[in-house]
Amino acid sequence: MKIGIGYDVHRLQEGRKLILGGVEVPHSKGLYGHSDGDVLTHAIVDAILGALGRGDIGRHFPDTSEEYKDIYSIKLLERVVEYMDSEGYSIGNLDCIIAAQKPKLAPYIEDMEKLIAKTLKTEVGNVNIKATTTEKLGFEGREEGISSQAVVLLNN
Ligand SMILES: [Zn+2]
Repeated sequence: MKIGIGYDVHRLQEGRKLILGGVEVPHSKGLYGHSDGDVLTHAIVDAILGALGRGDIGRHFPDTSEEYKDIYSIKLLERVVEYMDSEGYSIGNLDCIIAAQKPKLAPYIEDMEKLIAKTLKTEVGNVNIKATTTEKLGFEGREEGISSQAVVLLNN
């Protein structure tokens, strides 16, 4: 077994779509980034790369590369799943947190879990996504940004 952890933060900005776990969530602001700014998917990518001992998202998908400009981050996750497959590992389980004051994410969590599970080639029961506010504290609470954490267990 191998365990990995991922953490990511993106700034909220007007005029951007809000994409979380590959799912578009209606909101007045979206996450700024070189890619689509999908903070949850980036945390998952980092957790899997961490478990495999292969560095981090910036090393594999540099934000200086035109190739990744505005890319749908699920495509980055697909790439990391290929590394995982090639090393003979599969998902044991994945647990994630999204910290956002707004919008309410509960109605979209199930769609995120289904899409992430499909991308990871695992059963939806192995993927758990939680959303929390930060009680209006910190940058998430002030709606300046959204953070996400992920922990993954890989089986050989
Ligand atoms: Zn990111």
